Amino acid sequence: MASVQVAMARRLSLRSLGAWRTVRRFSSSSVPSREPLLFTPGPLTVSGPVKQAMLVDYGSRDKLFLDAVLEVREGLLQVAGVSKEKGYECVLMQGSGTAAVEAMLGTAVPKDGKVLLVINGAYGHRQTAICKYAGIPYETLVFEDSEPITVDRVRQTLRASRCSHVSLVHHETTAGVINPLEELVKMMKAEFPDLKVLVDSMSGFGAYELDMTWGIDFAVSSANKCIEGVPGFAYVLCATDALKQTQGNARSLTMDIFDQWANMESTGQFRYTPPTHAILAFKQALVEFHAEGGMDARKARYRANYEVLAREMQKMGFEFYVPEACRSYCICTFKTPEHPKFHFQTFYNLLAEQGFVIYPGKLSKGNSFRIGPVAWGSLFASLAPLTETS
Ligand SMILES: *Cc1c(COP(=O)(O)O)cnc(C)c1O
Repeated sequence: MASVQVAMARRLSLRSLGAWRTVRRFSSSSVPSREPLLFTPGPLTVSGPVKQAMLVDYGSRDKLFLDAVLEVREGLLQVAGVSKEKGYECVLMQGSGTAAVEAMLGTAVPKDGKVLLVINGAYGHRQTAICKYAGIPYETLVFEDSEPITVDRVRQTLRASRCSHVSLVHHETTAGVINPLEELVKMMKAEFPDLKVLVDSMSGFGAYELDMTWGIDFAVSSANKCIEGVPGFAYVLCATDALKQTQGNARSLTMDIFDQWANMESTGQFRYTPPTHAILAFKQALVEFHAEGGMDARKARYRANYEVLAREMQKMGFEFYVPEACRSYCICTFKTPEHPKFHFQTFYNLLAEQGFVIYPGKLSKGNSFRIGPVAWGSLFASLAPLTETS
């Protein structure tokens, strides 16, 4: 099996090298001389075949497209370890990941409900903003962005708060912290059986295990993160029972997950113009996800990339922001060096000129930058032996 994955990785990386050669060259020296590689939290560099899948135009009401929509919905449930028959649904929502988080909060929490937002980074804080805009009653429990959410503090807060819903981020992309989702969800459902659990697994799904049967009622992720599709839509995995209780809750027509689902069920269609090309790209991305060996293989690739990045960056003197115990292998935050000669924008530009796109930090305090070892990882992994011998 391992050799199949290696061959797959080689083939994928050769394809991406092919893509470099065909890229248009620009005269400006500030533009990379080949296709950029995105070492960012997402969108990510996608494979050639994923890009090629977008070169056809399907009608949004046409059978070819509706079949693709169905395949994607079922494929996503499969990645989450569940199915329609087991009592789960997948609803696709047009827009960015944040739009789907907004749709989830706005649809799941009834007007007389209250959601506990458990926060350990900017994406958790964004849920506070969403609740303010939509008038959703909420409370917060806030952790540092360098530390994971802990079961004990969540338990204590829930005991005191009488919240009907709880919402948390699976993998906090802000600093790259992985939260103990399974323990958290199992504790919540064991102690508070009526509590509905909402999860933002935007940058976790596909690379960190998420099993709806732990007791998750709603989980959101988007097309352009670890499944390696292109931006344009997000998806909400739902426990069917929980979803059916949400009719009439939504604060917004376009963001009504229940209505989107009811319509998809009866007609197979999106209610309003779907991102047809992004769906076709995603369908191909799911094929590649399984061809690579599913989540285990993807995890292993990201982790291998992370190992190279961690070793080489630390060798050069860069320091991680997040302690190793809760550090993610999908996105790494490095402290900006104090050295007077280190200038982040210059560092960024020099990398960008070579086609490596990294990302500024998003921490509430202290300067930092982020590198996602995810991007076109097979290529990155293939560089590892070179690094080792040099
Ligand atoms: C990327 C991300 C989002 C937001 O997604 P957008 O597509 O930028 O709106 C939300 N939560 C987490 C954890 C993310 O990583």
